[in-house]
Amino acid sequence: MAVRRALVIGGSLGGLFAARLLRSVGWDAVVFERNAEDLTGRGAGLSTHPQLIDILRRLGIDFDESMGVSLDTFIFLDRTGKTYLEAKTVRTMSSWGRLYRALRDPLPSESYRLGMSLRNVEQDAAGVTAVFTDGARVGADLLVGADGVRSTVREQFLPDVALNYAGYVAWRAMLDEGEVPTDIRAEIFERYTFCLPEGELFLAYPVPGRNNETQVGRRAYNIVWYRPTDPDTLVDLCTDASGRYHGTAIPPPLIRPEVVAEIKATARALIAPQVAEIFARAQPFFQPIFDLESPRIVFGRVALLGDAAFVARPHVGAGVTKAALDAASLADAAASDDLVAGLQQYQREQQPFGSALVALGRTEGAYISAQLKPRDQRTAAELKRDAHDVLLSHQLRSESLHKVLVASRRAS
Ligand SMILES: Cc1cc2nc3c(=O)[nH]c(=O)nc-3n(C[C@H](O)[C@H](O)[C@H](O)COP(=O)(O)OP(=O)(O)OC[C@H]3O[C@@H](n4cnc5c(N)ncnc54)[C@H](O)[C@@H]3O)c2cc1C
Repeated sequence: MAVRRALVIGGSLGGLFAARLLRSVGWDAVVFERNAEDLTGRGAGLSTHPQLIDILRRLGIDFDESMGVSLDTFIFLDRTGKTYLEAKTVRTMSSWGRLYRALRDPLPSESYRLGMSLRNVEQDAAGVTAVFTDGARVGADLLVGADGVRSTVREQFLPDVALNYAGYVAWRAMLDEGEVPTDIRAEIFERYTFCLPEGELFLAYPVPGRNNETQVGRRAYNIVWYRPTDPDTLVDLCTDASGRYHGTAIPPPLIRPEVVAEIKATARALIAPQVAEIFARAQPFFQPIFDLESPRIVFGRVALLGDAAFVARPHVGAGVTKAALDAASLADAAASDDLVAGLQQYQREQQPFGSALVALGRTEGAYISAQLKPRDQRTAAELKRDAHDVLLSHQLRSESLHKVLVASRRAS
């Protein structure tokens, strides 16, 4: 059989996993990324799971100590900075940039095309064609929509599917290890740290440094702070100093200085002083939390994958692992001679998996979402969430992911 060709739209981790895994089963896969420049260096920390490590190994990428920072302790700090709960864990925090390099570097440059923005897709029984905004047309046997949360591919095939705002934002901050005061570094840097102001969730942990370094002294400290934010306040947060509203994605440098000053002051009022100090020294920015569920992920010769197909709230900590699992399922399906049957198999496997992950994220984030309801309309679980609840869900994360995966395979 002639070598079959796949067009992968989106050059982030989902697209790279798809291209690398399709190539490993004999396809010629070419990635088209709309950004004109390499994406390196723009990510922050992310949780790894055994399922992600297995897929990296399948691609010949060894998950050694250069891939992430390992942690063995969770601590919960109260408002005064005292540790009131400590537990053991086994966890490796990697970074988007580290995985990106490992997946991207072995791809020949002609197979990763920058500055190519998809406009729409055309297809018939014989093949599929990607039409780009510069007018270029490229034909193939299969098109993979790995173009993220605001996927052009999904918008064409599922125009009515919209992102759901969860009612809260994640404030994020990252500080180089060298800028963390020495006493704070010695006390908490290598521990996965939680603070639980009422109705909120604050997490902090070390990650590879800005250039993906994992050596002591060159790592970075990453903070994610979930805070209920009603839609009107979100509009205000997303409005820059000139009064321009940026939708839900204001570029971090345009967040108004008084908004940044206020969140730093709030950190000092609500969060343990050690981590509030790190937050205040960094340049915080925020991301509104959304989720999204696609009713279908295969349309003829077109398949959606990763965040283009489903967006789970980040509590699941598995955006990248999900993209890798989708890509592995797609490559297994595409390895068969019968592409149509293979894509139906992909649909049967990954549709329930994506839906279950979205549901898991909603369950984990329900307490924070509920803070926008009047107190007397909240359930007992929505009124109070203690450290043990949070600890349990974090300790069981890889296990929950495994259960979701096994259940969806059984259902398919
Ligand atoms: C720069 C960057 C940094 C990230 N950092 C983190 C992190 O630190 N931690 C974490 O957990 N997750 C991070 N993510 C998200 C994480 O990478 C995703 O959950 C995971 O990669 C799976 O998403 P994805 O590849 O499906 O989609 P995304 O990562 O959203 O990538 C989609 C890609 O498609 C491209 N694209 C969109 N539309 C078009 C179009 N019309 N034509 C061509 N290309 C298009 C986008 O430019 C983007 O590169 C980051 C994503 C990006 C893009």
